[in-house]
Amino acid sequence: MAMSELRRDPFTRDWVVIAPERAHRPQHTPAAAPPAPATDPHCPFCPGHEQETPGELWRRPAYPDHPPGAWAVRVVPNRYPVLTLGHGPARHRTAGLFISAAGIGSHEVVIESPRHDWDLPDGEDTAVADVLCAYRARSLVLRERGPGLVLPFRNHGPAAGTSLAHPHSQIVATPIVPLRQRLLFDVARTYYDDYGRCLYTDVTAAELADGRRTVAIGDHVAAFSPYAARAAYETWIVPRHHQASFADAGDEVLTETAAMLRRLLDALRHLLGDVPYNYALISAPNGEEATAYFAWHLQLVPRLAATAGFELGSGMAVNPVPPERAAAELRGTPPLGPHI
Ligand code: UDP
Ligand code: ZN
Repeated sequence: MAMSELRRDPFTRDWVVIAPERAHRPQHTPAAAPPAPATDPHCPFCPGHEQETPGELWRRPAYPDHPPGAWAVRVVPNRYPVLTLGHGPARHRTAGLFISAAGIGSHEVVIESPRHDWDLPDGEDTAVADVLCAYRARSLVLRERGPGLVLPFRNHGPAAGTSLAHPHSQIVATPIVPLRQRLLFDVARTYYDDYGRCLYTDVTAAELADGRRTVAIGDHVAAFSPYAARAAYETWIVPRHHQASFADAGDEVLTETAAMLRRLLDALRHLLGDVPYNYALISAPNGEEATAYFAWHLQLVPRLAATAGFELGSGMAVNPVPPERAAAELRGTPPLGPHI
């Protein structure tokens, strides 16, 4: 029996167990969902229901060959928001021990297509670029509201937390910088103090030089399965030239990120079927856009196994698929091919 391996994540300094033997245990495969219709009369995000999502915040109009008033992408306020716009005392202390703050921030939905049955890897690269344009445009606005974090993310499949079939992603702006983000930033700052270089740029260069975990390389962005991937087939898309916030990405970077994301999702689907996943587009906290320490990254995590007691108690992840194997499999699929 092969021995597992502990790997330390350079970004969090946490340890991950790479345990290929775990892949051999019996698995429960979820039944495939029935195909969705092209439009759903009960769906609040389908065309014709725009009045159910009031206060549109951003729109990419449809291309000229579509009917007038048609849209390609819309951003609307979430009707059941985690955080809302407002004012309140910065902090409230209860019995001197507990600290609270008003739930100020924002929660938006990016409706990615007028088609109910569409999905990100299905169409043209430009359709994915329109979605990334929505993330960029809204991030530029939201980060001006004050300290905190702007986080675009996508849930795909019920096991990844999605409650609605219509293709969509979300953008949450928090008034605080979450602990995980502070940790990433602190680790990167310490690295900068030690070496005078950006940890993310250095790890990316090292990953591409090594090549075993590289999934795709473009002129502006690259994709790799990280050395200490916490989940099977976890893949990151990162800029090749230092950039702290995706909101500051130029059109060339954005366009290439979209093409790579589309191919990556297509490759994943090719390899594993329509599996649940989450991705998050992580940037520097608001106001830290110019930092030399930190770089944005899109972290894609398939949800193939539930986290259990060991993860709860240790905080450590157990990954049954070595990232070298995951990257080789993803690279070998027709959507990615040997070169992008
Ligand atoms: N939603 C909305 N307007 C509606 C119906 C749903 O804004 O008329 C929101 C809902 O609050 C949810 C999102 O659409 O946050 C769908 O998100 P998803 O299914 O990815 O995950 P959830 O946020 O439910 O975990
Ligand atoms: Zn719909």
